[in-house]
Amino acid sequence: MSKFYSSLSQIKSGLQSSEISVEGLVKHYLSQIEKNSRLNAFNEVFGPEALQRAKDIDNRLKEGNAGKLAGMVIAIKDNICYKGHKVSASSKILSGFESVYSATIVERLLAEDAIIIGRCNCDEFAMGATNESSYYGPVKNYADETKVSGGSSGGSAVAVQAGMCLAAIGTDTGGSVRQPAAFCGTVGLKPTYGRVSRHGLIAYASSFDQAGPITNSVEDAALLLEVMAGADEYDSTSASNPVPAYAADLKKTTEKKNIAYLQESLSSPGVDPEVKSMLINTIEKLRAEGHTVKPIAFEYLDYLVPAYYILVTAEASSNLARFDGVHYGYRSPAATDLASTYKRSRSEGFGKEVKRRIMLGTFVLSAGYYDAYYAKAQKVRRLIQEKTSKIFEEYDFILMPTAPEPASDIGKEEKDPVVSYLADIFTVQASLTGVPAISLPAGNNTKGLPLGLQLLAKHFNEQELLNFSKYFLEL
Ligand code: GLN
Repeated sequence: MSKFYSSLSQIKSGLQSSEISVEGLVKHYLSQIEKNSRLNAFNEVFGPEALQRAKDIDNRLKEGNAGKLAGMVIAIKDNICYKGHKVSASSKILSGFESVYSATIVERLLAEDAIIIGRCNCDEFAMGATNESSYYGPVKNYADETKVSGGSSGGSAVAVQAGMCLAAIGTDTGGSVRQPAAFCGTVGLKPTYGRVSRHGLIAYASSFDQAGPITNSVEDAALLLEVMAGADEYDSTSASNPVPAYAADLKKTTEKKNIAYLQESLSSPGVDPEVKSMLINTIEKLRAEGHTVKPIAFEYLDYLVPAYYILVTAEASSNLARFDGVHYGYRSPAATDLASTYKRSRSEGFGKEVKRRIMLGTFVLSAGYYDAYYAKAQKVRRLIQEKTSKIFEEYDFILMPTAPEPASDIGKEEKDPVVSYLADIFTVQASLTGVPAISLPAGNNTKGLPLGLQLLAKHFNEQELLNFSKYFLEL
């Protein structure tokens, strides 16, 4: 049995009827983690500590003063700081580094009695879409162990998929919560940029990064978002909009919606035929239910991936300058002076993909090329934002596949990185514009691989997005 309970509400009734204790739950998940260690989903498991916390929470439940996440056993992506615990971003350069403070989201989850069972494998510094850039190796997809988990939050998605925890927290810069969630048949939510504090996430591209939940149910996604969201004095980009009671107010949509889908997602030769037929079936089903579903042409489609990769690499080159062999983690044993400490520690500490992106980012920011690349990409980002807002004047949601293809074979490295980058085509629009987006499980293909469907909504319309998702999954 891989799925023990599939939502916190099921667990809560199990706790109430004494069918299970929190300690029993943690023991179950720890045994699942051990049984599935070959999947390589965890970089570290916090076993004894999780068991101790479980006992404390069982006591609080008896006393009647437990938090709203009592019984929620989660894993966090290994780029989220948890005080007193190691954090590596799956990079050699952070080997041995321990967090001196917790991310705001971690504090908020713990304050409501969530249990963090371990830190999950991911692409190095969250750069990738297959989890293969991790210093700790790829994560195997539980549906087919020869396939990738997706990335960059691959470990988080597989941990949920294989029942090693109830939910996990990932981070999404250009699709890293949604795409692995899709490849693993789970729900993955990227909130509106600013909805959730970024304080204590290891930064990749600061104007894109958001943390989000990977869950088995829309209910749990709503609950985790509700706990994590809200203004934070440590992140000036966090929004002060009041946080709705996403979970308590979660109701299946009853009204008819206007939904747009990208024409190209059905006409492009790059989209897998089974992904296309999944999308066609969904469109027909929604129309049969009385929703308006119309094709739209998005004239900037070809510019999404180039603009995204210019901007994120520029931001990454700046963010990753702090890993210099002096402040954090790995220092080359061959270093002899300051310059060689920087050069050798960075050359030996970063993997190939991270180095490629730092160099690309440094190039697009350099004096001679800034206007041609970085400034231009920012203008393109603005056009994409304006066009997306226009679409939302007419439509409630934009519907598209989460990824053009299902999970690929592990080890099938593309010779041309641009080919891999193009696979992010459907996830980067929400990231460039900051709107919320969710990936929902949409069945399996004929080979048994999960497919995902994505919905984008207006800024801060997570409630409407979650309500429709609940309705959609129960259709
Ligand atoms: N695949 C995308 C990238 O490599 C997205 C990664 C992410 O969202 N962290 O940049």
